[in-house]
Amino acid sequence: MNRDRRIRKEELKIAVHEAYLKFKDCKEGRNANYIPYLANIEDNLFGIAVCLPDGEIMSVGDCGYMFGIESISKVATALLVLKEYGSGTLLDMIGADATGMPFNSVLAILLENEHPSTPLVNAGAISAVSMVRPVGNSNGKWEAIKENIEKLCGSEVRLIDELYRSESVSNHNNRAIAWLLKSYNRIYDEPDISLDLYTRQCSLGVTATQLSIMAATIAFGGYNPTTKEQVFKSSLTSKITSLMATTGFYEHTGDWMFSCGLPAKSGVGGGIMGVLPGIFGIAAFSPPIDEAGNSVRAQRALQYIMEQLNLHIFSGERALIVEDEKN
Ligand code: GLN
Repeated sequence: MNRDRRIRKEELKIAVHEAYLKFKDCKEGRNANYIPYLANIEDNLFGIAVCLPDGEIMSVGDCGYMFGIESISKVATALLVLKEYGSGTLLDMIGADATGMPFNSVLAILLENEHPSTPLVNAGAISAVSMVRPVGNSNGKWEAIKENIEKLCGSEVRLIDELYRSESVSNHNNRAIAWLLKSYNRIYDEPDISLDLYTRQCSLGVTATQLSIMAATIAFGGYNPTTKEQVFKSSLTSKITSLMATTGFYEHTGDWMFSCGLPAKSGVGGGIMGVLPGIFGIAAFSPPIDEAGNSVRAQRALQYIMEQLNLHIFSGERALIVEDEKN
């Protein structure tokens, strides 16, 4: 086993471009159809971006297209709660266990009512939003949520109004979740405020490039390599990455970790954000998703890159991305 394996930037760039070419014509999956806005997005869009420790970004395809962050926002808000309350409180008040069920499962809440689950499924994410400070102040909470996402990705993000409206009129299941949480004392602010802010955070527009920077900020211990700002304490990287590794792809998370070895989080908008601690942050985006809500092209592309470069997180090797040799 090669414990300190060097991967040249050029090798990474080639793998990223090959992944793009290999899967850009893949026709599997369908846009999310339960949120009208998402159903109507151009389904050929596809982009892959990688952010390295020196802030360099390698990208191919539609990496400047702004799409709905959706469930990837759960990672950012879980980090905010970790920052505000610490990991012990997050574990007590929300939990860190996989449900093994779809992201919007009500059954998971019923089965685990004495035992909270993770902030990376809808129920736990609505709980997390409810904890964001200042509790009881919707505007203040929204500012905190948005600012945290902007610091993680190093630039401004904007609400996609049409997506927010589209989700707000169709989120009956999430409304039920918020009130069911209330009945189990697992929501820590007004349920309607918490639901609305959760819906709003899911409707923020981001690009694949921005997500790769957010991923890199997590991968490099809270240090955003593009703004050079320390956004959170480095000890939180292992906490948030563990949550991604156990629940990032919902009921498909085990299969994903087994075959790809990249702690990652998906969103039904078609984005996937992957964190390889100490190595890079990576994101891919393409709207058609599988039955668990994970983008098909993005999964294929990330898996291809991970396999080509032999980067599985549990491989026992420590890969280092290095400059190309000058000749
Ligand atoms: N806003 C979406 C929902 O709550 C997010 C789901 C997702 O991206 N998996 O249903």
